[in-house]
Amino acid sequence: MDRSGFSQLYLVGLTGGLGSGKTTAGTLLAEACLPVIDTDQLAHELLTDRKGAAYAEVVKRFGKAVLDRWGRVDRQKLADVVFKSKRKRKVLEKILHPAVEEEVARRLQALAASGERIAILEVPLLLEVGWDRFVDCVVVVDCPEESQVERHMSRTDESAKQAQARMAAQASRKERLDRADFVLDNCSTLQHLVAQVEGLIASLNKGWLAKMNGEQE
Ligand code: ATP
Repeated sequence: MDRSGFSQLYLVGLTGGLGSGKTTAGTLLAEACLPVIDTDQLAHELLTDRKGAAYAEVVKRFGKAVLDRWGRVDRQKLADVVFKSKRKRKVLEKILHPAVEEEVARRLQALAASGERIAILEVPLLLEVGWDRFVDCVVVVDCPEESQVERHMSRTDESAKQAQARMAAQASRKERLDRADFVLDNCSTLQHLVAQVEGLIASLNKGWLAKMNGEQE
């Protein structure tokens, strides 16, 4: 990603495993008035834009079987198809990644132009797609694998086995923690997570200042 249009922004990658609490943490940061770009949501928007190039390409490559009865891309159907085939996953990534990257860059430029100092990029597969190289700081939302499975199951109709298979396709908990500049420990209650967000924001402000002063973090 070409960062020249938003080089003064302190860019934060927010990531974590399946059901770890990324969206919950992202919402807390947004409530604290930090701009959050949710790349999963963005990919979803690209797929629901029936006039867009990404939608047309997905229908061309995956057929009408991944559409719902209104002709919209059904994310669950598409996820099931690509989950079963590495080749198809690569095809979808090739369609979506450049489109997501372009839109992310456009939004970051707008944030920088409006004088924002810090921007949060919520990216579930930050490490897996190598976007950790683009950001100034990697924040990992962490919880034990058993909680990930439980939380995922509580809001989907998937089994523990299906949740574990999804997790096996992601970076391991250790890989994420090894790469983290800041860890949000989400092993306990929501209040416990809320209490850590204040510390995170203070750390991000320090990071921004260090970047402005040209210091190495
Ligand atoms: P996904 O990988 O599916 O996108 P995610 O990492 O964004 O998930 P969330 O959607 O934030 O995770 O959380 C998963 C589920 O766990 C949600 O139903 C959320 O309300 C719940 N949850 C998050 N944090 C906690 C917590 N500390 N205690 C109990 N439930 C939680």
